[in-house]
Formats: sequence, C-alpha cells, structure tokens
Amino acid sequence: KLSERLAAVAEHIPGNSSVADIGSDHAYLPCHVVKKGAVPFAIAGEVAEGPFQSALKQVEFEGLSDRIQVRKGDGLDVIQPGEVECVTIAGMGGPLIASILERGKSKLDGVTKLVLQPNIGASAIRKWLFENGWQLVSETILKEDGKIYEVLAAERGNPEEPYSASMDAELLFGPYLLQGKNAAFREKWTLEKQNWQKILEQLKQAGQSEATIQKRQEMEKKIRMAEEVLS
Ligand code: SAM
Repeated sequence: KLSERLAAVAEHIPGNSSVADIGSDHAYLPCHVVKKGAVPFAIAGEVAEGPFQSALKQVEFEGLSDRIQVRKGDGLDVIQPGEVECVTIAGMGGPLIASILERGKSKLDGVTKLVLQPNIGASAIRKWLFENGWQLVSETILKEDGKIYEVLAAERGNPEEPYSASMDAELLFGPYLLQGKNAAFREKWTLEKQNWQKILEQLKQAGQSEATIQKRQEMEKKIRMAEEVLS
C-alpha cells in the first residue's frame, strides 16, 4: 500500500497524463498510478545506482516494464522536452527540488503540471514557482509516522494569483495552507517557532557582528509571523 504522503502526491496528478517521477527510488509512486490506470505512461528517474536498481526491480516485479521506463540521470536530464505532461518530485528538501527544477528548466516545455513534495523548506519551491511563471494551484499538509509533509501543485498561469499583500508570510506558510490551518499545520509551525526561539537565544549570546544582527532580525521576523499565524 502506498504511504499517505505519496498518495497525497498521486491525488494531484491530472488523470490520463504522462508522468516523470524524479528521484523515484523504489518507483512506488509511478507503479501505483500506472497500475491504477490513472496514468498511461511514466518515467522513473534516479541519479543514484542503488535506488535506480530498486526502481528497475520494482517495475519488473509489478509487470509494468511496458508502461514505466526507469532512467538513470540527474534531475530532469532523464526527460526530453514534450515527453511528459506532469513532473513529480517527492521526498527531498525544498531547496534541492527547486535546484532540480532550475537546472532542468529547458526540459519543462510541454509540462503542464508540477507536483512537489518537500520534506522541509517548501518556501524555496514557492519562490522558484513564483519567479518562473508557475501558478501554485493547491497545497496539502499531512502528518504520517510522526513527520509532517507538504505537497505543492502548480500549473502554468499567473504566479501572482494565490498571493496577497502579505506575500512574505504566504511564501513561508503557503497561501492555501494558511486558509485551513489544520492540526498538522499548527503542529509544524509551533515546533518551528520553538526552534527559531532557541536559535534566537543562541544568537543573542553570539555577539554583535553585522551578520549576527541580521540573522537575529530574520529570526525575530519569522517568530513574529509564526505567532501571528498561530494566534
Ligand atoms: N521520491 C521517493 C519518495 O518520495 O518516496 C524517494 C525519496 S528519496 C528520500 C530521494 C531520492 O532522490 C533518492 O533516491 C535520491 O537518489 C534521489 N535524488 C536526489 N537527488 C536527485 C537528482 N538530482 N536527480 C535524481 N534523483 C535524485
């Protein structure tokens, strides 16, 4: 059975569109959506030999080799422009996901949907989407096995659409997630806030260099934003 986390990614994949899952590891996500009939064709991309072999084995084991191609390579290098309509990248940090998108930009011709699941640092992805003409269209936050995950889905469109005047906070917390503020959201940002408070205490002991002062102001701003959001 697919994890709740990957099921949440699968839910955002448009019906009947071809998918490339980048950093696929066991290829559980492409196997699931292809087996279910939701997706006719998929590519599972992996940069590392071990996970690449796991993906090959899983696809073969499930008897899906005719509909899922496992390819070895870095990020979007494994796809050609126009080959797939949807790209999924799950289970990595937000900055790494954003850097994969940035480096592979030219491969996104013909891609109409991105489904991205950062374990941390979702704001790096929101920023990348905003700066590159992708409109964030939905977000999910969920807790599974004691960890909290976010899923972001984007389409080509007006990147400014989901944002208002308080864009700094919306980039950090998620414009859609801010509307719901479910239990997972509250727990995540309560923990983050506590963490920032600890860092701030340490920075207060760390002297008065310009860099330290700047870091301190950054922390104070984030703490204030979290307090506002959680109040
Ligand atoms: N996507 C799966 C999931 O969500 O369960 C696997 C997540 S696993 C923690 C991250 C995978 O991404 C690893 O198998 C790693 O080898 C792969 N990876 C990391 N950087 C990559 C890159 N630049 N291109 C392709 N795969 C990458």
